Amino acid sequence: MTEKQLVIMQLYPRDMNIYGDWGNVLTIKKRAEWHGYATKVIDYDPGDAFPQHVDIIIGGGGQDSGQIKIQDDLQAIAPKLKELADAGTPMLMICGLYQLFGRFFKTATGDIIPGIGIMDHETHAGPARLIGNIVTTNPIFGEIVGYENHSGQTFLGDTIEPLGRVQKGAGNNGQDDSEGAIYKNVIGTYMHGSLLPKNPAIADFLIEQAAVKKYGDFTPTVIDDRFAIEARKIAINRPR
Ligand code: GLN
Repeated sequence: MTEKQLVIMQLYPRDMNIYGDWGNVLTIKKRAEWHGYATKVIDYDPGDAFPQHVDIIIGGGGQDSGQIKIQDDLQAIAPKLKELADAGTPMLMICGLYQLFGRFFKTATGDIIPGIGIMDHETHAGPARLIGNIVTTNPIFGEIVGYENHSGQTFLGDTIEPLGRVQKGAGNNGQDDSEGAIYKNVIGTYMHGSLLPKNPAIADFLIEQAAVKKYGDFTPTVIDDRFAIEARKIAINRPR
């Protein structure tokens, strides 16, 4: 029997990968292996050849300067990413790349960094950074816990749903109670920390979507999540 394999691509690990975002890739890799899949991790940086086949794409946050560095390459691969997103490929985009999966990010100096419009939202640099522990709720994933640190304030359009509703923290913009966004199987969020070790339900959602898309089925293993459950409890009770 040939082993089932999931190919995980990390988008721009050199420039977009802060506050522990790399942990998201490690979590997907490890949990996919526990669920019985072989894994292959591909780093994609500007100028690289886009892989022939990918099953899950993970992108992180970065400073405005990191976003500027990758913006041309992101536009170049946008048609490929759009095609994959529309075909149901699961993706997770944190903070800086979440912003650029929308229409644009307008920086504090008034410059526009264009996005790729996979998600219906736009981001404007705000007067203060939104920093701290954050907890939101989602009907499928339950409580989502993380850490946010962004100046950009993101406003969702009519055609996109937030990932969660803020219980504690600022979320997309500190004005409405939305946090992150979800389009098909593409999840965008401001949560670093890393997100997935403390939110295994989201990790397993991404793995399940990838497995079903590639192989038509997914039979999860029961994973001992005691440490994740403890970490969640502590994170939820931390002061802002
Ligand atoms: N530069 C963006 C902002 O501050 C993204 C920050 C990040 O990815 N942490 O809004």
